[in-house]
Amino acid sequence: MTKTVLVTGGTGLVGKALETVIKERNTSDVWYFAGSKDGDLTVLTETKALYEKVKPTHVIHLAAMVGGLFYNMNNNLDFLRKNLQINDNVLQTAFEHGCVKVVSCLSTCIFPDKTTYPIDETMVHNGPPHDSNFGYSYAKRLIDVQNRAYFEKNGSVFTSVIPCNIFGPHDNFKPEVSHVIPGMIYRMHKLINEDTATKEEDKVFTVFGSGKPLRQFIYSLDLAKLMLWVLEDYDKVDPIILSVDESDEVTILQVAASIAKAFNFKGKIVCDTSKADGQYKKTASNKKLRTLKPDFKFSNFEESINTSVKWFIENYETARK
Ligand code: NAP
Ligand code: GDP
Repeated sequence: MTKTVLVTGGTGLVGKALETVIKERNTSDVWYFAGSKDGDLTVLTETKALYEKVKPTHVIHLAAMVGGLFYNMNNNLDFLRKNLQINDNVLQTAFEHGCVKVVSCLSTCIFPDKTTYPIDETMVHNGPPHDSNFGYSYAKRLIDVQNRAYFEKNGSVFTSVIPCNIFGPHDNFKPEVSHVIPGMIYRMHKLINEDTATKEEDKVFTVFGSGKPLRQFIYSLDLAKLMLWVLEDYDKVDPIILSVDESDEVTILQVAASIAKAFNFKGKIVCDTSKADGQYKKTASNKKLRTLKPDFKFSNFEESINTSVKWFIENYETARK
C-alpha cells in the first residue's frame, strides 16, 4: 500500500531530520512536511483544511509548543492549552479521516518527578510531573489517554514515542526558548565572536544551574530513523521510549565541555547555581526498543555535537536564533 504521510511540525528539528532520512530512501510513499504556515493546528478549521488538502493515510504528529526548562517554567499555561488544542485537533481529524496510523511524540520529561529508576513506558501516569513543566507534561500525557480511547472506539492504531532530549541541525537556538544543547551552542558562539578585544583564554562561559543534572540525548537523525521504524513496524498503542542507553547519560557540565571542545573554546567554564537545575535526572530504559530492534546503532555523542555546531556556524544567518 502506498502511504500518504502528513508530518505535522515538519519544519522543526525532528521534522527536518525526517525529511533528510526520507530523501536518502527510495520510496513511492508521498510525504508532506507541514509547518505552521500550512495551517495553525490550534485552530480546528485550519487543521481540517490541511487534512482535506493532503488526504493522509498516516500521520507523524510532531507539532507542538516546544522549549527547554526556562521557557517551560515561565509558560506553563500556554504549554498546556496550545498543546491540548493542537493534539485534539490533529488526532480527532485523523480519526475522522480514517487514518490508518498516527505516531505522536511524547517526551521523557513528562514522567513522574518522584519515581524509581530507570523509568519505563508503564510509568507515564504514575504521579505528578516535575513542577517546572507540568503544563507541557499533562498535555502530552493526554495524547496517550486519547490514543487508548481511539483504540477502544474502533481499534485505531494511534500510538506514541517517548524521546529523550533531542538535538541536531535545524534546532531552535533561541536562547530564551531553547533546550540546553542549542542554548549552549548559541551562547558559546556569541561569547567567542563578540568582544574580540578580550583574549579567548580570559572569557568565561556560564552553565546555567549546578551542571550536575543528568540527561540522555538523542541525535535528531537517529530519532528520525527510529520513528520511521515505528511508523512501519510498531503496531501497539502503548508508547515506546526512543532513547540512548542508560549508560550514555551525561551531566550538563559534560555537555558544556563537549560543546566547548567542538568550538575549540579556550576560556573557562563556570556554573551559575542561582539558576534552576530542573529535574535532577529522568533516566529512561530503552529495553523495549533494544528488544524489538536489537541491531540499531546510535550515533556517537561528540561527533553529533560537532555536526550540530558546524551546522549552526554554516547556517548562522537562517538558523532559528
Ligand atoms: P521544534 O523544532 O520546535 O518544531 C516545532 C514544530 O511544530 C515546527 O514545525 C512548528 O512550525 C510546528 N508548530 C508549532 N506550533 C504550531 C501550530 N500552532 N500549528 C502548526 N504547527 C505548529 O520542535 P521539535 O524539537 O522538532 O519537536 C518535535 C516533537 O518532539 C514535539 O512534539 C516535541 O514535544 C517532541 N520532543 C522534543 C524534544 C526536544 O528535545 N526538542 C524532546 C522530546 C520530545 P513552524 O516551524 O512553522 O513554527
Ligand atoms: P530538560 O532536559 O527538559 O530539563 O530541559 P533542557 O534541555 O532545557 O535542560 C535543562 C538543564 O540544562 C537544566 O539543568 C539547566 O539548568 C541546564 N542548562 C545549562 N545551561 C543551559 C542553557 O543555556 N539553556 C537551557 N535550556 N538549559 C541549560
